[in-house]
Amino acid sequence: MKAARGYAAPSADSPLNYYSFERRDPQPHDVQMEILFCGVCHSDLHQARNEWQNTIYPCVPGHEIVGRVTAVGNSVTKFKEGDLAAVGCMVDSCRECENCKAGEEQYCDHAPVFTYNGPDKHSGTQTFGGYSDSIVVDEAFVLKVPTNLDLAAVAPLLCAGITTYSPLRHWKVKKGQKVGIVGLGGLGHMGLKFAHAFGAHTVLFTTSPNKVEDALKLGADEVIISKDEDAMNKHALSFDFILDAVSAQHDLNAYLNLLKRDGTLTLVGAPEHPLPVSSFSLLFKRRQLAGSLIGGIAETQEMLDFCGTHNITSEIELIKIQQVNEAYDRLLKSDVKYRFVIDMASLKENAAA
Ligand code: NAP
Ligand code: ZN
Ligand code: ZN
Repeated sequence: MKAARGYAAPSADSPLNYYSFERRDPQPHDVQMEILFCGVCHSDLHQARNEWQNTIYPCVPGHEIVGRVTAVGNSVTKFKEGDLAAVGCMVDSCRECENCKAGEEQYCDHAPVFTYNGPDKHSGTQTFGGYSDSIVVDEAFVLKVPTNLDLAAVAPLLCAGITTYSPLRHWKVKKGQKVGIVGLGGLGHMGLKFAHAFGAHTVLFTTSPNKVEDALKLGADEVIISKDEDAMNKHALSFDFILDAVSAQHDLNAYLNLLKRDGTLTLVGAPEHPLPVSSFSLLFKRRQLAGSLIGGIAETQEMLDFCGTHNITSEIELIKIQQVNEAYDRLLKSDVKYRFVIDMASLKENAAA
């Protein structure tokens, strides 16, 4: 076992603080990594505060992990010491069910093992995530990182990137379509970049007037302040597809009504409480309401390679781990441009204290 340091939430209503624990020694198929950067996803906040009512404490969040390989097990073929590597939201799955075999491990019938707050078959306790200095993961769940991109700005691709890339690909977003992205946060700004890169006429919906200029720079063809009813009404019945990346309560019907016949509204946001849907918003125009969870390992690699080729990364604000509680408070105020990423070198300040 190897000593590891990180930040954990000790309970739903206490701030995250310094936490030391252990990581397993690399098994034959394992890759051991030093974590250099980890993104701060709104799911980290939901889980640290038990908003999905499934959190095991202490909880070390973090599933947007990039770093360098420090050791590999005997049977590892994809990685060697010194390579850049990345880990996203999953560290394992059953690998045998229909979904795993189809490369859709996120939909594993036995549930994938999530990077944190999941059952760790090695330790018998919960998995611990990327707000830490190291991690050990089976190579089948470790991704290769394009070497031409800024490493800190790559970290958010591991969740915000794949979570938006996957549905945009699944629903075949392309040139000639009108596509909406709701919410300009971590997920939303990546969705905007991908929809634009796939050639769609991309419309960004925001509640924050101060994000309009950025949205246009990030690839939006149009920006709508969603609280402006007249502006919303002008776009009624005009969208092929809308991706909703909002983390809190909001009115889905307002977006369903913007879809054309057979249009789809796909949710990736996972607010704490259910969102009411009027059946009339769906019946008229035979609309569809769908959801999408992260993406499989092969598709995550495809997305990272696509980002390497097209020079796509996240817009980030680099923070120290000691600022993570403040970052959570800012997420709740939609005050994020557009992803907080933790510089893990800052953990050393705790060790020195
Ligand atoms: P985030 O960075 O906090 O962004 C959320 C954005 O939603 C905000 O920036 C804001 O955008 C908008 N928003 C917030 N409160 C709102 C409200 N009351 N009404 C309308 N809009 C509001 O969060 P994130 O990390 O992108 O995550 C977004 C959601 O996706 C979270 O619920 C997260 O748990 C979930 N998630 C799901 C998956 C998946 O696999 N499906 C993966 C990762 C995350 P504006 O300022 O532009 O309005
Ligand atoms: Zn996430
Ligand atoms: Zn499975």
